[in-house]
Amino acid sequence: MSKISNKRKTTYYVGLGMIILGIILFLSVFVMFAKMMGEPDLMFSKQPPFINAVIGIILMIAGGYVTNIGAKGAAGSGLILDPDQAREDLRPFNEAKGGMISDVINNIDFVDKITSSIDNQQKEVIKIKCRNCSTLNDEDASFCKGCGQRL
Ligand SMILES: [Zn+2]
Repeated sequence: MSKISNKRKTTYYVGLGMIILGIILFLSVFVMFAKMMGEPDLMFSKQPPFINAVIGIILMIAGGYVTNIGAKGAAGSGLILDPDQAREDLRPFNEAKGGMISDVINNIDFVDKITSSIDNQQKEVIKIKCRNCSTLNDEDASFCKGCGQRL
């Protein structure tokens, strides 16, 4: 299993921090605006800090890009066009995906085993009736266990 490098992990968490900061900045504008609505004097003396909302949105978008780069790597996220490096960057994801698929296949295999064992049990139940004495014999029997007649 390939692991994501610490550098990329750090990048991811920095991006996450940017998103959170952006959301806080964005929401704070509305909180301030609501406060100003309650105090008309403030409303005219001071403009609501709408610029903070814009900075907040930019931070959220930029943070989204940074987390993507951190998670998938520079090439894997499409920042650098390098298919070989992209494959390398995305390896942890593909391995995880491959692992999940093989888990699913193993489960299917397991279900298959159960159904086939049920099938075997049903096959054992199948009996054939002797034409001579009507005794029920196993399907694979060559001679009747009741009268010895060839089946
Ligand atoms: Zn018989």
